[in-house]
Parts: sequence; C-alpha cells; structure tokens
Amino acid sequence: MAANHLNMFDVKKIRDDFPILNQQVNKKPLVYFDNGATTQKPSSVANEVLAYYLNKNSNIHRGVHYLSAQATLDYENARETVRSFINAKNSDEIIFTSGATSSLNLLAFSFGEKFISPGDEIIVTEMEHHANIVPWQMLCGRKNAKLKVIPFDNNGLLLLERLPELISEKTRLISVIHTSNVLGTVNPIKEIINTARRHNIAVCVDAAQSVQHLPIDVQELDCDFLVFSGHKVYGPTGIGVIYGKEKWLEQLPPWQGGGDMVDEVSFDKTTYNQLPFKFEAGTTNYIGAAGLAKALEYLSNTGLDKIHRYEQSLTEYAMKKFKEIDGLNVFGNVSGKACIFSFIIDGVHPLDTGMVLDKMGIAVRTGTHCAQPVMQHFGVDGMVRASLAFYNTTEEIDYLCQGIDQVKKMFL
Ligand code: PMP
Repeated sequence: MAANHLNMFDVKKIRDDFPILNQQVNKKPLVYFDNGATTQKPSSVANEVLAYYLNKNSNIHRGVHYLSAQATLDYENARETVRSFINAKNSDEIIFTSGATSSLNLLAFSFGEKFISPGDEIIVTEMEHHANIVPWQMLCGRKNAKLKVIPFDNNGLLLLERLPELISEKTRLISVIHTSNVLGTVNPIKEIINTARRHNIAVCVDAAQSVQHLPIDVQELDCDFLVFSGHKVYGPTGIGVIYGKEKWLEQLPPWQGGGDMVDEVSFDKTTYNQLPFKFEAGTTNYIGAAGLAKALEYLSNTGLDKIHRYEQSLTEYAMKKFKEIDGLNVFGNVSGKACIFSFIIDGVHPLDTGMVLDKMGIAVRTGTHCAQPVMQHFGVDGMVRASLAFYNTTEEIDYLCQGIDQVKKMFL
C-alpha cells in the first residue's frame, strides 16, 4: 500500500518545479530536510514575486491608476484563493499578517482585550511551538489570567482525557497546535473542538505545520480561529494568515492602528474600517500575498490528498528504516504522524550530528525547535529534526540513514 502511493506520485516531475533542489552542497547533491523551518518555492511562486518587482508593483487600496487597481485586484483575489483553500465561508474571514507568529500575537492581543478578564483561563498543549505559548502567557500576565496545559505521553500522544478536568467555567479559549513541529503528532482537533463547543469555549488552531500536509476545511472543523505562515506552505516569507469566524472578528478590536484600517479619522474620534481591513494596518505584504496565492494554487493543482498520501508513505518508510538503526531515538511515534522526525543518536550531541550530515549535503535542523517544553518533557536540551516535504524521496531517506551510520562511526 505504502509502496503504491510512492510509485503513484511523480516526484521527479514535482522536483523539476523546485530549481533550488537541483544543486550540490559540500560537493554532494542537496537533500533538503528542513521543511519544518521553511519550505522551498516552486518556480511559479518565485516568478510571481519577480514579476511584481519588475512589472506589476504598486501599493494597493490607494490609487485610481492602473497598476494600483491591478495590484488591489490581485491582493483580493489572493484572499479568495486562501478562503477557498481552507474552505472558509467568506473572504472577509481571511486576514493577512506577516506570519503565524504575528497571527497569534494579534489574536492574543485582540481576543484578550475583549474577552479575557482577571481569573479567566486559556488552555494550550505541552507540545506547542513558542509562538502559541508566549503571546498567551503575555496576555495572562497583562490580565491576571491563567494558562493551563494539556500534557502528552512519551509517544507524543496528547492526553485528551485530561482536557475535561482542565476546563472550568473560567475557560475562554483553547489554542492548540494541529501538527507538532517536533513530534509530528497530528492532534485530534475535531475532538477538542467538539468538547470546547459543549462548554462554549473558543478554539484557535495553529496550523503552521499542518495546512501544507493535509486538506483542511475550517467549516467542517468548526474552529473559531486558524493560523498559518506562507513560507511553510511553499509561499514567500513575510506573509501569513488568520482565519476567524466573522462573528468573532466583528467583535474583536483592531491590534495595530494606521492607514487602511480606519474609516474616518479626526482628533476627536476614529472609526474603523470593515472586515478584513480593520486588522490590516499600513502597507501590507501584497507581493507576498500574490506569491502565497500561487503556492496554494500549486498545492491545489497537485492535490492535497495526493500529497498527504505520498507523505504518509514517506513517513511509514522512514519510521521502518529508523527502527532498524541501533541507538537511534526517534521522538514521536503516534500513528498517522506527519513526515517530521526528531531524533537523537545515543551518545552524540545533536549539533555534531547536524554538522556531519551537512558535510554530506543533508540539511536538518538541530536545537530546541522553538518548543522548549517538549525538550523539558524528554529531559534533553536539543534534538536533530528531519522534516520532509512532498518533493523528498525514499532514496533521500536511505541517504539520511547512511548519514546516521556515518555519525555513529565518527563519534562512537
Ligand atoms: N507554530 C508552529 C507549529 C511552527 O512550527 C512555527 C514555525 N516553526 C510557528 C508557529 C511560527 O511560524 P513563523 O515563524 O512562520 O511565524
């Protein structure tokens, strides 16, 4: 079954769309396994960004002239592309930000201003990225509210049975990572949302590591908010998204003030623009939005279902291979996990592993992956992470295994 999906996916053709992959690093073919940090871009995305700077650039929403009108049209079309990609009800529910981190900070500020009072509670999980911990912690500090944490077990499985005891009549929001950027665990967010619904609690989903790996339908999920970054979904850097249900976004106060987010300004009083512009102060990254639209079109044309099946086959293949390596500890072993593999070779510092792999042309990440509580859970101060994408291959996984053997020979 896994082999079938591997054969059915024309990865060679896909790789031709990503010119950066076709290069040598340290005189070896590049094996790019750092997709959790950022993904590479198909030519269509790079060409769009270049076309903007060469031929199409003009600030949006401001001019009556041709270039400005076209750029405005592209920007609003990009919003529509995002809407359709996650199946939001309407495009006013899509806010452009500079990335998942700024999306979460905006929500923590605005939701906090309106809905969090002293003594209120917010729930996150033990496997969050710092971007889904610190903004809520800062909010709790400002408002004298409390952050509660759903733990996970040593396989990386979220202990959902602990959720009911964490919920109280003071719980206002659950903000949860969909796919862990360290463990690869795909959390059962639908179940969490169903539980939250019964208690009238809002749910925010951090989809920074999921929206590029599996199809997401926000209406079917019924989440209140969902965030992701453009650069992790094969789009440009500096662009990100908040999806929010209209009923929430209408109630939330703006985060930043400035041009475009206003209706009328006087020294006595300012009124704010309608959705989604209320949350988009100043010159937005309209070129990033145009590039993001191309990335999402690329994913839709390739087929998220197909991508998901192929990546699941890569995951099965890699996990099987890793099990055969003595002294290799892989963190996160929950079935259906994404193609994200964090590991430590017994007795070898992650940094040393990363450096040897780099000499072989393999790009992995080492460190805490912006998830120090996950490191604390396992009592380690860092891990190596190989995070794959749909342009990666089983041959590259084999080569990583050879690399791990090489590290063991050098250090053990
Ligand atoms: N959440 C998760 C799960 C992530 O993996 C990341 C990026 N590593 C972020 C949030 C933050 O994304 P960005 O740095 O693009 O703002």
